[in-house]
Formats: sequence, C-alpha cells, structure tokens
Amino acid sequence: MKKAFLLFAFIFSTSLLIAQNTYIYCGKLIDTESGKILKKKTIEVSGNKIQNVYDGYIKVRDKNATYIDLKDKVVMPGLIDMHVHIESEHNPKTRLQKYILNEADIAYNSTVYAKKTLLSGFTTVRDLGGTGVNISLKKAISSGKVAGPRVFTAGKSLATTGGHADPTNGGSRKLIGDPGPKEGVVNSVEDAKKAVRQRYKNGADCIKITATGGVLSVAKSGDNPQFTIEEIKAICDTAKDYGMHVAAHAHGDEGMRRAVVGGVKTIEHGTYMSDSTMELMKKHDAYLVPTITAGKEVVEKAKVKGYFPAIVVPKALAVGPQIQGTFAKAYKKGVGIAFGTDAGVFAHGKSGKEFGFMVEAGMPAMEAIQSATITNAKILDMANEIGKIKKGFFADIIAVDDDPTDKISTMENVTFVMKDGKVYKK
Ligand SMILES: [Zn+2]
Repeated sequence: MKKAFLLFAFIFSTSLLIAQNTYIYCGKLIDTESGKILKKKTIEVSGNKIQNVYDGYIKVRDKNATYIDLKDKVVMPGLIDMHVHIESEHNPKTRLQKYILNEADIAYNSTVYAKKTLLSGFTTVRDLGGTGVNISLKKAISSGKVAGPRVFTAGKSLATTGGHADPTNGGSRKLIGDPGPKEGVVNSVEDAKKAVRQRYKNGADCIKITATGGVLSVAKSGDNPQFTIEEIKAICDTAKDYGMHVAAHAHGDEGMRRAVVGGVKTIEHGTYMSDSTMELMKKHDAYLVPTITAGKEVVEKAKVKGYFPAIVVPKALAVGPQIQGTFAKAYKKGVGIAFGTDAGVFAHGKSGKEFGFMVEAGMPAMEAIQSATITNAKILDMANEIGKIKKGFFADIIAVDDDPTDKISTMENVTFVMKDGKVYKK
C-alpha cells in the first residue's frame, strides 16, 4: 500500500515537472463574450490550450512554471481575418508573375506573408483563393514547420469562363486554353458539383466563388453577375454535403442576391448591396465581410500611373470608394458583420487597419473586435475552440499597448502574440 502511494506520488510530481504551465498576468483582459474589459487576471496555459483564467495575479508552487507579465497591456484572443490571400501580395508585376513564378516560388513567398500575418496578431485566417499552394502552406503551418496563422482555405476559387477568378483572363490566346472545373472554371450545374468535389479532394476547407466581376481581374466589368442561380445552388448544396461553407465575392447587387438566395454564408465586399439584399442577408443568416482596407488601397494604387493594367483603373476608382459606406449602412440595418480585409490586395501584416475603418463608419470598437473573434469563430465552426480566452480554448492570445475602445489604432500595433501556447512576439 505504502509502495503504491510512493509510486503514485512519484508519477504525480514528475508530471508536474513536465507540465511547465505558463501564467500570463493581464492588466486588462477583453472578454469577447460579454464585450467587457476585465482587470487583473491570470491566464494559465498548458500545452496549446488555456487551462484556466483566475482573478488577480496568482503564483503557483511549481518552480518550472513560466510567468509572462502583461500587466500594462490589454490582452485579448487572437484575431481572425475572414478574407486573405495568403500566398500572394499584389504588386505592379502581378500579371507577369502568373507566367514566371513556379509553385516553389509561390510557396517560399507565402511563408513570409504567413509570418507577417501571425506577428500582426491574426492567429487564424480564412484564405479565399490562390493557386492551391495555400493548401500546402496550411499543412506546413499546422504541422509546425512554418510560422503562421491557422489557415482555413478555399484552395483555388471558382469562377465561370472569363469570370473574376478565371485564372487565364487577359492572357495570350495561345496560353489560356479552356481551364474547366478542375482549375475552378465552371459553366453548368454538373461542372459546379465537380469543381466543389475536386476542391474537397484537394484538401480545401471551404469554397469561394466569384459571384460578380471584380476589380483586379483583367476583364471589363467589376460588378456583373457571373453565375446562374442554379449553378450557385449546386455549389452550395454540394459544399454542404462535404461539410464546407461557401463565400461569395460580390460587388454588384444582382450577383449577390443570387448568391444569398443560393445559400452562401458570406458576401465578400458587398459594394453595391441594395436595401432588399440586406434584408435577404438577415433572413438567410448570411454575413457581410467588408474588406474596407482593400477598397481604400485600390483607389490609392489606381492613382499611380502604370500600377494596374488600364482596364482595371476605372473599376478600382468606381468600386473602392463605395465599400466603407455600404458597410456603414449594412451594419446599421443589422446585417451580420464578419471581420475580413482582403489582405494580399494590400500588404500582409496590415489587417489591423480595418478596425479603424469600421469604427470610423459607426461600429463601436468592441463590436469590431467581437466580429474578428467570436463571430468569425462561429462561421468557421470553431466557436468552442477559438475567439475567446476561456478554459479549454486554444491558447491563441495577443496584446496591445492601449485600450482599443479609447484608441482603435492600437490594433495596428500588436505587441504580444501567442498561438497554440507558443510565444511568437513579446
Ligand atoms: Zn479577395
């Protein structure tokens, strides 16, 4: 009996030694659930999970425990950006790069963007379209080989022929061919089903469609509808069968109306959204992902001579300035808002600017933070794992120097980043 007790005591003390829990002292802690800022808390982190949250600054007997002092900071859960393009960053050579970069080049570049994103406080992103390298990047990050945010990716976006995400737009006729559903170009209900199933097979987590024209594609219209409602329904129904949700890029109202009725979960940009489509969004529990930062960026870049192909410039100047106003109106009407920026259209690591634009348009700072945490976690089906600092959640924890409800620009300068229990920035 005594032997058994000693053995138990030995195992118990050894496990304590191995545990090496981390205790984070938080001067202020944002409770995203209640929207309140709590004072003087200690977060206990064990492995990659939050073990507990205590009142006050606690000290434990374990001499291997690590303490992190964030008493003069404002701590919150890691942020979630619902719209990034993690494998690329737009630049004046983007058109040429499509023809000269190999997948390995794209992969190396993407590791740089992923790290920048993580260090800016975004511990989770939804990647809405690239070449497919994004799926490999996601695997490299989740297996700990590359530093970056948790990635939920659409792989390669779906478009119709000549549509916004047709990868051969604007190319020489000798090179463009006829991509087909495997490459994400669909022109019928059958194509649509096949393309979704192909994304699932490739390892995508969600589906992205370009429901209308877009700004940066080498094509004339920035807002025309580009899918039939039957095609969109086939995409959404098939995606549902495979446990995926659908995000729809949309600037024009008719295309986004079809997308919402067809069953998409999020409307990206939403530029020319009418009052009736806003009502439809509420009815169908769809969310608007504003991407105001990208709207501002394309207007600035359109003024730089030669930055964009000539066909893109008028679209950028027309669409860009509308986005923030539409967001303001949709928010006021009660449409669900899912924080997202379109990073990659502008430099990665700058997504924190979106908070300032949302607040400028009338959304309180705390609601913008809740949008980037609990709302986005819910859409990603991760409501019980990310977006809150709570027992059992992933230890994705960040901090800023100032209270964002007083000074929202502090969100552009995240000074502490922990993801999965590992400190990346201190
Ligand atoms: Zn985008």
